[in-house]
Amino acid sequence: MEWQPDEATLDLIRHLALQNSYQYDGKGQAGSVISRIMGSRADLRQHGKHIAPLVGQEVAKANALAKSEGIEKIRTILETEAPDLLERKVQTRREGLPELPNLEGRKPILRFAPNPNGPLSFGHSRGLVINGQYAKELDGELILRFDDTDTTVKPPMLEAYDSIPKQQEWLCGFAAHRIVIASERMQHYHDYAEKMIQGGFGYVCTCSAESFREFRVSMKECPCRNNGIEQNLEKWKMMNDPEGFKPGDAVLRVKTDMTLKNPALRDWPAARIQTNPHPRVGNIWRVWPLLDFQSAVEDYLQGVTHIIRGKDLMDSTRKQTLLYEHFGWQYPETIYWGRVKVHEFGAFSTSQMKRDIAEGVYADWDDPRLPTLSALSRRGIQAESLRSFWIELGLTQKDIAVPLSTLYSHNTKAIDPNAPRLAFVRDAFPITLQGEFPRTGEISSHSDTKMPTRKYSIDEGVWIEEEDSGKPIRLKDLCDIDEHGMVESIDRSDKRSVVHWVAGGKPSTLTIASGQELNVVEGILEDNSYKVGTIVQLERIGYAILEENGLLMVHD
Ligand SMILES: [Zn+2]
Repeated sequence: MEWQPDEATLDLIRHLALQNSYQYDGKGQAGSVISRIMGSRADLRQHGKHIAPLVGQEVAKANALAKSEGIEKIRTILETEAPDLLERKVQTRREGLPELPNLEGRKPILRFAPNPNGPLSFGHSRGLVINGQYAKELDGELILRFDDTDTTVKPPMLEAYDSIPKQQEWLCGFAAHRIVIASERMQHYHDYAEKMIQGGFGYVCTCSAESFREFRVSMKECPCRNNGIEQNLEKWKMMNDPEGFKPGDAVLRVKTDMTLKNPALRDWPAARIQTNPHPRVGNIWRVWPLLDFQSAVEDYLQGVTHIIRGKDLMDSTRKQTLLYEHFGWQYPETIYWGRVKVHEFGAFSTSQMKRDIAEGVYADWDDPRLPTLSALSRRGIQAESLRSFWIELGLTQKDIAVPLSTLYSHNTKAIDPNAPRLAFVRDAFPITLQGEFPRTGEISSHSDTKMPTRKYSIDEGVWIEEEDSGKPIRLKDLCDIDEHGMVESIDRSDKRSVVHWVAGGKPSTLTIASGQELNVVEGILEDNSYKVGTIVQLERIGYAILEENGLLMVHD
């Protein structure tokens, strides 16, 4: 009698077909389903010729279902009938970045949350690039959130509210899907603070910082901890009342457990009194959330699915998870990265830069010595270079040190195809040419021959760099001369050094940022009609960007 599959086998075939179709976005393939069946059920191998057509039918049905009702329909079926098969979902392959864990078919909602106490710097670019890249590739959303509720230690800077969204768009190549400004959402934080008190897991603590520290170290509860809800609401009112508590007199705490192993998690502070006016909302509010509380509530309100943060913020995750448990919320998936240290950018902090600019040490935020995004962009570092730099480094949890030259090599790839060559002669030294040579001509601007050539016209002489004078040299693409400027050969005749030169030209400067130095080199720049902002490749020097008042070095 002909072999007949039993019900369990038919289910297995159907489920694996659905799974395969789901894994490959509605393009399941019978072949791989057959090998999985044969791999897991040795007893079926002898019935291959009966199994194959059944698999073919089921895969076709699954693919058709995906097409007519969407891939999520398949997911729903599997969820009820064979949930264990869902975990093998293959995600779209992505260069450099690992897959986002537990996406579960959702579109990811990610956030980048700078403190607008200054403009964005190189260090911020990582969070923007990585979050932005995931949002873009997985068709999710990127939230740009201003965490601006600290008016005391890191007060917000008004200009940053304008510059940060522009820099985000420049860097990511698209505008954030949502912009959230925490200081405009204070009512929410107050509501949740009150809910916390009413739920019995928040209390107002009037202990001094010092005495609470002692309670925390000795794992003892402070006297405020067991106050009733009514009493806490009363004290909460006093925190908000200008006639009530003063800054430092009282804080709102999240009730966790004073015996937790990690002292930082023990009844951590959620809100405090600040009386310095906020540059955007002034003195409307008196009680301000601390970052861990504000960020936790906002992530919940915005439906953030994934948080990517430094591993130094693991305690924040732990604190916030305890808060989420109180509220009965599901904490976002969290991914950590280690520190990336770029030595040249190591020593800068936003507040120090702010002071230095005020004191005139730096001209402004885009001073080429600074690691701000405005300085990097002014210096000709391209957004795509920063993107490929960070994506290539990926999300390792290891702390790593990377030389700045790595970023520069990404940038070279980005700028070289469009950077015409140009000559800039430092310490220009005039040399009169004698003899026969082509007095007018064209020189190539780039190895890409589609770029227009440079035309030259020589009356008497050319400029060369002083250190090239007084010896036989070859003027690049022109002729060999002796130490007096006598033309010896049009073709290259020996191995003398090839030097660049300028005929005509005009005085210019090349500014080079080197550590804390800003060196200005004077010279003669070849005549050209390139616009301000064009990146050129200076012969023998490197890439430079044309500015209003001269050249600014990009890198070599
Ligand atoms: Zn207390």
